[in-house]
Amino acid sequence: MSVSEALFERAKECIPGGVNSPVRAFGSVGIAPRFITRGNGDRIWDADGKEYIDYIGSWGPMILGHGHPAVLEAVEKAVKDGLSFGAATQREVEMAELICSMVPSIEMVRMVNSGTEAVMSAIRAARGFTGKDKIIKFAGCYHGHTDAMLVKAGSGVMTQGLPGSAGVPEGCTKDTLSATYNDLENVRDLLEANAGEVAAIIVEPVGANMGVVLPEKGFLEGLRSLCDEYEALLIFDEVITGFRLGAGGAQEYFGIRPDLTTFGKIIGGGMPVGAYGGRKDIMKMIAPSGPVYQAGTLSGNPVAMAAGLAQLTVLKEETALYDKLNTAAGRFFDELDQIFTQAGEPHCVNHIGSLGCVFFTEGPVKNYADAGRSDTARFTQYFAHMLAQGIYLAPSQFEAMFLSTAHTQEDLQRTLEAARSFFA
Ligand SMILES: *Cc1c(COP(=O)(O)O)cnc(C)c1O
Repeated sequence: MSVSEALFERAKECIPGGVNSPVRAFGSVGIAPRFITRGNGDRIWDADGKEYIDYIGSWGPMILGHGHPAVLEAVEKAVKDGLSFGAATQREVEMAELICSMVPSIEMVRMVNSGTEAVMSAIRAARGFTGKDKIIKFAGCYHGHTDAMLVKAGSGVMTQGLPGSAGVPEGCTKDTLSATYNDLENVRDLLEANAGEVAAIIVEPVGANMGVVLPEKGFLEGLRSLCDEYEALLIFDEVITGFRLGAGGAQEYFGIRPDLTTFGKIIGGGMPVGAYGGRKDIMKMIAPSGPVYQAGTLSGNPVAMAAGLAQLTVLKEETALYDKLNTAAGRFFDELDQIFTQAGEPHCVNHIGSLGCVFFTEGPVKNYADAGRSDTARFTQYFAHMLAQGIYLAPSQFEAMFLSTAHTQEDLQRTLEAARSFFA
C-alpha cells in the first residue's frame, strides 16, 4: 500500500469520505487520492515522493504557480507581525483599493473567507437592495455550497428549484430559479413568469464548473439588458474568472458591467479568501453602513491579505503576464485538440485564456445538458493514464484545467506527449 493509500484509509475513519471537500476524494475516477506534501512552480509532490505537473493549481488560486517568491515573502513578513487581531488593519484598505483599481465595476468591496461566503453575502445584498427574493441561476454553474444555490439542474427549470442536496429545506430553494446557460429566451421566460419578483441573476461569466463552457456571443450582453429591463441586479460570480482571464476578470474581458461581483480562489494567493463588491449604492446597504447584516471574525485576516495583496500586485504590475499566459495556453489547448482529432476520439475542447477542458463527447458543448453527454468512463481511463504519466488533472470530466505562469513550454510539451501516448 502506498503512503497516500494508507493516509486515505486513516482519513476515511475520521473525516467524512476521507477529505475536507468532496472532489478531492477522486471518487468519480475510483482511484485513491494523492496526498500532496509540497509544490514548487508547476510541480507538486505526493506523500510517496512522486512528482506531477499540476493542472489543478488548488482549483485556480495558484495562477503564479506554487511558492511564488513575492507571495511567500509577504506571508513570512505578515506572520511575524501576528496572525489575527479581529481589528481593522492597513492591509485591508490596500487590498480594497487594489481590487477597486483592477476590476472595472468594483466601487466598494467587502472581504470574506471563501467563495461560498462571497456568493451568500452578495445574494443577501441583492435581496436587501431590491426588496425582492427570487434569484435566477444557471444549471451547471456552481456558486458554492450555500443552501439557496444547491439547486439541481434540469426539470426544475421554469418552476421552482428542487434541492440538490439532502439537508436543504425546500423553503431555502423555493426562490431559486434554474435557467439554461446560453439560452436568453429561457431567462426572459423566467423573468416574465416571475415579474417584479427577481432580485438578481447570478452567472459564471465563463462556466467553469461543468467543464469549461463559454458564453456565446451576446449571452452576457443579453443578461445585462434583461436585468435592466426587469429591474434585477446582475451578479457575476468571478470566483474562477476573476484575475484569471485578465487583471479585470471576465467583466473586463467581455466588456460587461455587472452590479455585483463575487471573488475567491486567486484573490487569496492560496489563502482562504473571498470578496464581494460592486456598485456603491448597493454595497452601502451592508452593515454597519446599512441594514444588510454580514460579518466575519477572521475576514480580512492579515496573513491572508498579505498573500492576496502580493499575488494581485504581481498580476496588476506585470502587464505582459496575461498575454503570455493566455497565448501559451491557447496554443496548448489547440494542440491537445489536434491530438484527440488525429486519434479519432469523439471530443470537444473548450478553452479561454488559461482555462480549458476536453469533453469526451462531440461538440459543441454550450450548456449543462451538452456537457452531461460526455463519456465519463472514457474520461476516467484518460485521467488514470495521465496520472500514471505524472500529469495531475482534476479527477472529474466536469472540471477545468488551470494553467499558470509557472507552466514551462517543456512541461506543456511533456503533457501533450502524455496525452498522445494515451492513444498509442
Ligand atoms: C469555487 C467556486 C465557488 C465557491 O468557492 P469556495 O471558496 O470553494 O467556497 C463559488 N463560485 C464559483 C464559480 C466557484 O468556482
